[in-house]
Amino acid sequence: MTTLTHPGLRSGQSDLSVAAPEAARTAADYVRLERAYGARNYDPLPAVLSRGEGSWVTDVEGRRYLDLMSAYSAVSFGHAHPKIVAAFTEQAHRLAVTSRAYYNDRLPLLLERLTAITGLDRALPVNTGLEAVETAIKAARKWAHKVKGVAEGRAEIIACRGNFHGRSITITGLSTEAQYRDGFGPYPPGLKTIPFDDPAALEAAIGPDTAAFLVEPVQGEAGIVVPRDGYLARCREICARRRVLLICDEVQTGLGRTGHLFGWQHDGAKPDGVILGKALGGGMMPVSAFVATDDVMQVFHPGDHGSTFGGNPLGAAVALAALEVLEDERLVSRSRELGAWLLDQLRALDSTLVVDVRGRGLFLGIEVDPKRVTARQVVDRLLARGILSKDTHGTVIRIAPPLNVPREALSWAVGEIRDVLREAETGR
Ligand SMILES: *Cc1c(COP(=O)(O)O)cnc(C)c1O
Repeated sequence: MTTLTHPGLRSGQSDLSVAAPEAARTAADYVRLERAYGARNYDPLPAVLSRGEGSWVTDVEGRRYLDLMSAYSAVSFGHAHPKIVAAFTEQAHRLAVTSRAYYNDRLPLLLERLTAITGLDRALPVNTGLEAVETAIKAARKWAHKVKGVAEGRAEIIACRGNFHGRSITITGLSTEAQYRDGFGPYPPGLKTIPFDDPAALEAAIGPDTAAFLVEPVQGEAGIVVPRDGYLARCREICARRRVLLICDEVQTGLGRTGHLFGWQHDGAKPDGVILGKALGGGMMPVSAFVATDDVMQVFHPGDHGSTFGGNPLGAAVALAALEVLEDERLVSRSRELGAWLLDQLRALDSTLVVDVRGRGLFLGIEVDPKRVTARQVVDRLLARGILSKDTHGTVIRIAPPLNVPREALSWAVGEIRDVLREAETGR
């Protein structure tokens, strides 16, 4: 392999102590390369993965892991699902990218499907989740200015403390996480946060300029925070009465993760707009969308908004296949039943280190007592035993396997979690 590097142009690189890419063979080589040449915006767990099939992944040294993380729900249907891979390769050979300057023969089918499953009127396809959130915010602001009658430039978006909606400047401006914000300002005006699971706070925060309330049905990044029953129904009623859009960010909770097709269905609180992503890409590629009522979507005219890759036929074909798998394998009810069973199993572990076990469907969190053990320590020990999980906020271990994970695999994982907690309890 020839390389395209120009050693003379790279400053401070006088020796070849860092292996060239083609020489990398061991896990340590890959870790060293990534650390040497990558921006340091991640701190990955030390597993260098090279293969995935169903709920299992294999690292470069041949170790197998059960994937209880599924890339934050992006791999909800498992790795390399044969039907999704087939749709991907067939479409990649046929036609992958056209831009929206032309129609293609896959996107319209996806748009129809997305409106059918959400019960909403129109969908706007983009690539990543944050793009879909940005799209929702732009739609809400324009709706406020052009339809609701808010004075130009005054529209306000309300979100919840502890939210995670992505990493753009505007979305970061809505974040209450100090690290996510630090150094990235100034942020746009018109952004406000209120406590999660607090309908009275929403009622109080709404003013004449409020455009939308943006909310995750279950807060993921915050530590799998499940609101009380009826929360979204209350929000729905308040938003309707005060003429404010209710927009649910279902990027992580959507497509069966919480045991319903959408998280909002737990309370039957149909929103005005829904944001989809992650699992919609079938574990293959980013496919996201903002789906909303006609009343909201009417604000977009040709040229108002767009994305070169958004709505590409490859992504549309993959998303259609993913939605087919979701239905064919009855993964929504599977998530509900298996999730309820797993929650019981985890609650029965009865460890003194565990403060709380919570979740909906196959979207679960185990909260540990930080004075005794950190979530990262538990996650590291699970990794050593062949289980991928992820810590969040120092105290919560998130468990979100592919929705088609075999029950026996979860049973085995519960035993490993019990052993890890026991080891940590006895200080071994
Ligand atoms: C991951 C996530 C996003 C952002 O999606 P990206 O594809 O990473 O941009 C937005 N909202 C929620 C709830 C998410 O979990």
